[in-house]
Amino acid sequence: MIRTRGLTKRYGALTAVDGLDLDVREGDVYGFLGANGSGKTTTVRMLLGLVLATSGEIELVGRPMPASRASALPHVGALVEGPGAYGHLSGRANLATFDRAASATSRRVRSRRIAETLDQVGLDPSDRRPVRTYSLGMRQRLGLASALLRRPALLVLDEPTNGLDPQGIREIRELLLALNAQGTTIFLSSHLLAEIEQMCTRVGVLDRGRMVLQDDVASLVAPTGRVAVHTPTPEWAAEVLGARVEDVSGPRLVVVSDDAAGVNAELVGAGLRVDEIGPLRVSLEDVVLRASTEHAGARA
Ligand code: ATP
Repeated sequence: MIRTRGLTKRYGALTAVDGLDLDVREGDVYGFLGANGSGKTTTVRMLLGLVLATSGEIELVGRPMPASRASALPHVGALVEGPGAYGHLSGRANLATFDRAASATSRRVRSRRIAETLDQVGLDPSDRRPVRTYSLGMRQRLGLASALLRRPALLVLDEPTNGLDPQGIREIRELLLALNAQGTTIFLSSHLLAEIEQMCTRVGVLDRGRMVLQDDVASLVAPTGRVAVHTPTPEWAAEVLGARVEDVSGPRLVVVSDDAAGVNAELVGAGLRVDEIGPLRVSLEDVVLRASTEHAGARA
């Protein structure tokens, strides 16, 4: 759905995006993670043809960008940095303006679709207040509604939960997951690792314009072939398990094994008390931090 090769953007001496190879496949919920200023917005803008790349190639829904912008963009719903809206019109009127410019279906169908979409993002279709009175969260929802209006195959969302409270973030997350379950591919940027971890199937990590990691979340946080055990008598447990024990720190042992139930049976069988036991997983946070540190090391 999105493929870039060597995508680069320079602003004078600053390389904002540096040789990016993005691969977003159909059905992905792809999280594009990076600190503020790492180049996410610039990348999103290039994908959508809003900013010209200095060099590199972009394919969006199978079409080269920006050359095939006119045939690609109708399949793409986008939300980029604070949606533009007419402050004096209501949310509904804003969507109608936007839709009229882009669609040939009948007025009744459009009106119903607008009401449905507003409802979908948690805005009241009968709300007549002008958008200038909206909170940032409401504006963000309206921006998302306009991205969804034409039921696109691909959603490209730059920081979609920006300005939302925890409840709002959860609602948007659930909405995006529901859309994905119905077949929409989602590409979203965020500086929040927890957000990416909770909803994405694939992640790309940007660090000062360079991609330091791109992989499926499931394989990044796959079990490590280790079992973590918590027990009040770690020395005794170490004796029972022998050479399989890789590390002991305080009440916690790391055991080389992919059979937590078996290790548990062994310890309990030997008369030990086990407080907690389970397969050891690395967190996405660990993986991302390690990739960024290694990258920084390679640069130095
Ligand atoms: P944020 O989350 O803060 O939006 P980001 O990851 O989206 O950050 P970008 O906005 O893409 O980052 O910015 C990447 C770098 O490029 C920054 O150093 C920024 O100052 C610089 N930059 C972005 N747009 C321009 C521009 N039009 N002219 C000059 N420099 C720019």
